[in-house]
Amino acid sequence: MASVTFEHVVKKYAGDVLAVNDLNLDIRDKEFLVLVGPSGCGKSTALRMIAGLEEISSGVLRIGERVVNNVPPKDRDIAMVFQSYALYPHMTVFDNMAFGLRMRKTMPAGAAPGLSREAAIKQRVEEVGESIGLKQFLNRKPRALSGGQRQRVALGRAIVRSPQVFLMDEPLSNLDAKLRVQTRATISRLHRDLQTTMIYVTHDQTEAMTMGDRIAVMRDGILQQLDTPQNLYDHPLNMFVAGFIGSPAMSFFTSTLQQENNELYINGEGFRVRVPQQYRQALTSAAGKQIIFGLRPEDIADVRMEQNVEEGTVVPVTVDVVEPMGSEIYLYLLTAGQQQFVARVDPLTRVQPGEQLQVTFDMKKMHAFDPTTQQTLM
Ligand code: ADP
Repeated sequence: MASVTFEHVVKKYAGDVLAVNDLNLDIRDKEFLVLVGPSGCGKSTALRMIAGLEEISSGVLRIGERVVNNVPPKDRDIAMVFQSYALYPHMTVFDNMAFGLRMRKTMPAGAAPGLSREAAIKQRVEEVGESIGLKQFLNRKPRALSGGQRQRVALGRAIVRSPQVFLMDEPLSNLDAKLRVQTRATISRLHRDLQTTMIYVTHDQTEAMTMGDRIAVMRDGILQQLDTPQNLYDHPLNMFVAGFIGSPAMSFFTSTLQQENNELYINGEGFRVRVPQQYRQALTSAAGKQIIFGLRPEDIADVRMEQNVEEGTVVPVTVDVVEPMGSEIYLYLLTAGQQQFVARVDPLTRVQPGEQLQVTFDMKKMHAFDPTTQQTLM
C-alpha cells in the first residue's frame, strides 16, 4: 500500500510531443483514482510512468516516500493490468497466475511459516483464484476461457503478488457491454477487499464515475480537474469537464446576460430564462456580457409533467428527434433560434417529432462559463 505523487511531471516524446504537461497529482494511499480523458490526452503515458515503462522528462515521481524516477519497473512493487490480457497461451490458468511469484526469489505475502515456496505459491494462487471466481478454471488453458474469464486471470495474476499499487489501463475495453458492467463491479469489490491503491485509466466517463473515489480529468496532457465523481458532475471548473462528465452531455447555449429590475436574465437564441437569486451575486460582474449557459439533459422537463413551474424557467421548443430508452426518453429539441439541445424526460411524456412543446429548465442546476477562457463563472 502506498501513495503515488506526481510533482511537476513532464513527459516529452521525440518530435516534441508534450504528452504530459506539468502534472501535479497526489494519489492517496488505498485510493481508487481514475485517470480519464479522450484518446491522446496523456493518461496512459502518466500510468506508464508510474509503472516505469516510460522515462520521465522532468519532475519528480514518488511511490510512497520513495522517488522512483530512476527505479526499474521490477523494483517498484506495482502490478499492471492491460486491455489485452497477454496471458501465456501454453500455460494453465494456475501457471499464468503463479508465473510472477515463481520468477521472484521471495515467499508470497502471507505465506504460513514452514511451507515450501512452491506450496506457498499454490496456496496463494488457489486463494486468489477462489476469491475472483476462477477456482474451477485453474487447470484450463486461456483459449478455453471466455474474454471475461481471461481478464479475470489477468487480474488474478496481478493480485497474487500483493503489490503496493495496482495500475490498470483500459482493462475492460475488450469485453462486451454486459460483461464490462459485471467486471466493473468485480474490480470495485476487489478494491474494497484488497484495500490497495488502484490507478485506473479509461476514456469512458461512466467507468470513471462509477469506480473512482476521485477522478482526474485530463486533456492535451494537462490535468483539468481532480475531484470526487459527484463534485465533478455538480461543479465542473470548465466547459471541457462539464461536457465530458455526464451522458448525454451537458448542453451549452451561447447567451447574453442581461440585468433588468434587479434580476439577471439569460438571453439565449430564442429563449429567455431567469438566473436564480443564489447565483446572482456570482454572475453580476458578467451582466451585459456574453456567457455560455450550460444545462444538463436531466435538468429539463416537459412543463405538462411538472407540478410547480417557476416563472422565468419556461422555454418554447420544437421536438426534433425522440429516443425512447425505456426508463426515460431522450428528446432532441430546437429552440426558436434553432439551437439544438437534449433533454432526458419522464418515460410517460407523450411527444412526436415536429411537435411544439414547452419545457422548463431547472435553473438551480444551471452552469455558466466565460466564452473566452471557458472557465466557470459560478
Ligand atoms: P491516452 O492514453 O490518453 O490515449 P497517450 O498517453 O497514449 O494518450 O498519448 C499521449 C500523447 O503522446 C499522444 O499525442 C500520443 O500520440 C503521444 N505518444 C504516445 N506514445 C508515444 C511515443 N512512444 N512516441 C511519440 N508520441 C507518443
